[in-house]
Order: sequence, then structure tokens, then C-alpha cells
Amino acid sequence: MKSQYMHPPTFNTMTSRDITSILRVLVAQQQLLLLSLLLLAVIPSVAGYSTLSDDFLKLVPSGDADYDIHNGRLLAPLLIPRVAGTSGQEAAQRHFVDYFAQELPEWKVEWYNSTSTTPVTGNRELPFANLVLKREPPWVREGQSNLLTLVAHYDSKITPDGFIGATDSAVPCAILMHVARTLDPYLTQMYEEMTALGEGGGSVEEDMGVQILLLDGEEAFLSWTSTDSLYGSRALAEEWENTPHPVMSGYRNPLGQISMFVLLDLLGSADPRVLSWFQTTHWAYQALAQIEERMRALGLLETNPKKPFLPDADKQQFGDSHYVQDDHVPFMARGVPILHVIPTPFPAVWHKIEDDGEHLDMPTVRDWARIVTAFALEWLDMMEVEPKSQEGSSSSR
Ligand SMILES: [Zn+2]
Repeated sequence: MKSQYMHPPTFNTMTSRDITSILRVLVAQQQLLLLSLLLLAVIPSVAGYSTLSDDFLKLVPSGDADYDIHNGRLLAPLLIPRVAGTSGQEAAQRHFVDYFAQELPEWKVEWYNSTSTTPVTGNRELPFANLVLKREPPWVREGQSNLLTLVAHYDSKITPDGFIGATDSAVPCAILMHVARTLDPYLTQMYEEMTALGEGGGSVEEDMGVQILLLDGEEAFLSWTSTDSLYGSRALAEEWENTPHPVMSGYRNPLGQISMFVLLDLLGSADPRVLSWFQTTHWAYQALAQIEERMRALGLLETNPKKPFLPDADKQQFGDSHYVQDDHVPFMARGVPILHVIPTPFPAVWHKIEDDGEHLDMPTVRDWARIVTAFALEWLDMMEVEPKSQEGSSSSR
């Protein structure tokens, strides 16, 4: 991504999901008021879905040794140069595909390929390949599901020679692989229970699924411009915009199905500061920040920073709205709601040869994995299938 900020475009239309989100918040606020009056108690405030219980938060795994930089299952295979069109990138692609084939066979695997020239490769068309991994309810028709969309780029920058990009974005990719395998058994259980109960979908709550976008060509080849950057995300956003669903589908095209575009980038250095960038999705930022706060209070995180990773939950003023250019831009320009999880300032190793495995802060890596995993579980309303505690107290349906 680019180290400068720009003003965002303005939107004059709202998606149905925006409205749904606002309604969720309003409904939750009314419930909050009522419950507060009735119980004289303070109820956690984020919206619509049930927040994860303390017991459930305690079960959220970090991925642990799978991030070992030498032989960890998830991360080690990605700690190589991954420039578009090179054998290193092919190895990264095989790593993703093999992992999902072996461990997550229920996930649909789709490639979205494009080509482009670049300023350093002359007239040669370079291949770019976005990988989309998706799990949605078994009953949905095309264009019916709404999809929590977790995103990272897997290409690495062509310079300096040998650049690995551990934070940029090998670690975010590995975290998303971990999130997928953690969600998977709960999704299976939830979909099976809903099918058994005849809850065959048709509402936003019932038709929730998840997709992971592993995007290619985020990095500039020469220097960041609107045409020399975001090769993969620009191609995918445009393709999805031009792929209408059948008439009477819930959503007009795949862009409309994105309930939240959660972009992870530059994660893995110590003491990150991730701000809230967008007023329209600040409620989702607050949900993420609340997860961090609760996990810290429960002693579930390894790091102990002076300030939380997500310090912006109480932000009120969004007037001076800058943002970092990154893979969300082509989607945001088409009205997709964005939660951009990127630290500013960027890590000290940013775009330097030192952005390698040895310079990662592993407690920070594992804490991000816990926080993002818990956020996804909560978003997908997994309290519905909360594992029963040993005392037998459970709110499972
Ligand atoms: Zn970068």
C-alpha cells in the first residue's frame, strides 16, 4: 500500500447491507435501553449478533506453532519472495490450494485471473491470480448469501531483491488460513442444525457465509500509481461489478454480497496502532476493538502494549477522513463497506529487506490471530453453536 493518504470518494447511495447494519445498531440500541432500564445493568453494546461469551473467547486458538517461521504449517511456506509470475508465487499458490484441499474440503475454491503489463516488464503481459475461498450455507442460490469477506494480498514486492514481505502480507495470509480452519467446524454444525430445523434461509442472519480473498498484484512494480498497483483487486472488483446475479437474487452481483470487507495488511510487528478509518463501518471497528479489550481483560492475549492495538473505539469525529491506499480502494469506490486493519505508522521494516520472519513479533502475530478469529466467530453468530461447558450451561439452541 501507499504511505500517503488521500481523500475518499463520496457515496450517495447506501447498500441494503448499510441499511441493515444501521437497523441492527438501532434495534440493538433500543434493546439496550430497555434492558438497561429493566435490569439496571450495562449490556455490551455491539449490535445484532450475540457477542461471544467469555467461555467461548477462551476457546479461540491462536494457531501457535503453525506460525513458526522455519517449519510452521501456515506461515513458513509463505516466507519466500512471491512476485507475480515467478516460481515463488506459484509455490505460495500451491500452499493455499493444498491446504484447503486437505483440511477444508467444504470450501469452494475459485481463481480469478487477469493479465496486465507493468512499467518494468515492457510489453509482456504478466499473469495475476486472485484466489477466492468460500463457505456458504448449503441452501443458498447464487447471489443469496451475505459474506463476511476477509482479505489479504499474497504477492510480494519486486524490490529490494529477495524481499519477503513477512508483514506484507505473509502473516495476514497465514492468519486467514487459521481463521478458516477455526470457523469451519462451527459453520458445519450451524448449517446442519439449521437445515435440521428447517431454517432454510431467506433472512440476512440465516444466509451468512464467509469468503477469503487472497489477492495478487497489490504491490507496485516501479512506484505507486493508479495503474502500477492493486492489479489483482482492480481486476476482481471490476469483474464482480460486471457479473450480475440472476433476476430476483438477494444481491445484484458478488460485490453486493460482501457484508464487510475486512482487509488485513502489515500485521506482525510489535505495538501496532490500527485506527478507525470510516464512519460508516465504525460500528464494526468497535466490535473488533471490543473483542481485543475483552480478551485482554480475560488474560487471553500475550502482548501487553501501552495502548491497545485498536485504540479508536471512542472516535467521534470523522470529518478529516484520510485513508491508506490499499486493496480495498477498488471495492470502496463501488460502495462496498470496508474495515481496514492496517497499522499507522507502518512497521519500521516496511518495504525493507528486514521485513522477514526473523523480524516478526510472534506474540503480536498470535494475538492478531486470536482477535480476528474471535471477530469472525462473533460476526457469524457462532454463539448459536457455542460449545457446551463442563457445567452443562450453554445457550446453544
Ligand atoms: Zn507492500
